Amino acid sequence: MADTNLMSIPGQVDPVPVARDITPREDGRVDLIGLPKDRIRELFETAGLEPKQAKLRSKQVFHWLYHRGVTDFEAMTDIAKTMRPWLAERFVIGRPEVVEAQHSTDGTRKWLLKTADGHEFEMVFIPDADRGTLCVSSQVGCTLNCRFCHTGTMKLVRNLTPGEIVGQVMLARDALGEWPKGSMAGLDDAEDEGHYTSDGRLLTNIVMMGMGEPLYNFDNVKGALKLVMDGDGLALSKRRITLSTSGVVPMMDKCGEEIGVNLAVSLHAVTKEIRDEIVPLNKKYGIEELLEACAAYPGASNARRITFEYVMLKDKNDTDEHAHELVRLLKHYKLPAKVNLIPFNPWPGAEYETSTPERVKRFSDIVFEGGISAPVRTPRGRDIDAACGQLKTAAEKKSRAQRDREAAEAASA
Ligand code: SAH
Ligand code: SF4
Repeated sequence: MADTNLMSIPGQVDPVPVARDITPREDGRVDLIGLPKDRIRELFETAGLEPKQAKLRSKQVFHWLYHRGVTDFEAMTDIAKTMRPWLAERFVIGRPEVVEAQHSTDGTRKWLLKTADGHEFEMVFIPDADRGTLCVSSQVGCTLNCRFCHTGTMKLVRNLTPGEIVGQVMLARDALGEWPKGSMAGLDDAEDEGHYTSDGRLLTNIVMMGMGEPLYNFDNVKGALKLVMDGDGLALSKRRITLSTSGVVPMMDKCGEEIGVNLAVSLHAVTKEIRDEIVPLNKKYGIEELLEACAAYPGASNARRITFEYVMLKDKNDTDEHAHELVRLLKHYKLPAKVNLIPFNPWPGAEYETSTPERVKRFSDIVFEGGISAPVRTPRGRDIDAACGQLKTAAEKKSRAQRDREAAEAASA
């Protein structure tokens, strides 16, 4: 098995070696979250169950884990009472540990989470009138070092396991009280029914836009999203899931074929010179190659357009000419495209500034006039550093001691 320790960045654009799919625990038990049904069956067999028993039990356990959200084998009422301690001795139902939970004044929520072996990462929930979007991390840190992104400045990186990725969605369901009623004792009063959207859920969409480059952790992201999309699992439609990549061209087709979710591409610039500077991966996979891969993306159509993200950096990539060139490129490659204009979210030490609102408006108008939708994304959760590109674990910003002091002060206030 590979090492799960954090690794230093091997080079600006080199993928992180694939890490193991299960994080080992000190108590020797195996966390079932993140494992497909077949793998659970195998583990039950290895632990001594007859093949038929193992098959039946894995089916039951899978249902309790992903459909009902239970975190305790004792709650699995259709499993024999004597069997439950047998399971608990060998397995756990993990959730990432919550180190800190923050609420923005605009309703955005951010969680600082920790893996069983002590690495911290973040997850963000963004509620809107008609939907609720969970922004999920795929790595601790990121190796790609985009110049405008705080996550890219983290020095150490590790891939998250499927369990740590799907665990974020499960934790969000815990926090929002969104498991079927009756299965989560104590959480039933967590949300007022009045806040529910028409389809009865707060969490309706998932975006792989948290920390990390999801296509540099393809297998684990795929494993996690399969569980999210599985009808017996979390049962979220692939149409409600979007994966954002900074442009890992060789993995894009595989992503469409094997995962099938919506694609978002962090384009951010229309000339080689500027994109090389702000998205260093461009030196490896250039704009033309990237747009060709987008044109060939399986499943893209006018009904399921590709989102092009464009961060608005003052005096860098925000001129009228850039907007015209963007329209030309997207049309040249006949892309079913929509553009998301993201005003740059500042962070301490960043070398860029946000384009003026007038500039952003003008840029958006030009793209719209070119026949491509280009809404400006309102920054969300800036006050708690939860907005795009602001994620960087508190571990690197504040010391543990400082956080403990703050927690103690908050508790006594
Ligand atoms: N690594 C993936 C997904 C995570 S980033 C990717 O790069 O696509 C999610 C989006 O936020 C990306 O489009 C990213 O370029 C953008 N972003 C990063 N830093 C930002 C910042 N400081 N302000 C605004 N958007 C930013
Ligand atoms: Fe990594 Fe995406 Fe940030 Fe670039 S923008 S450093 S790819 S997380």
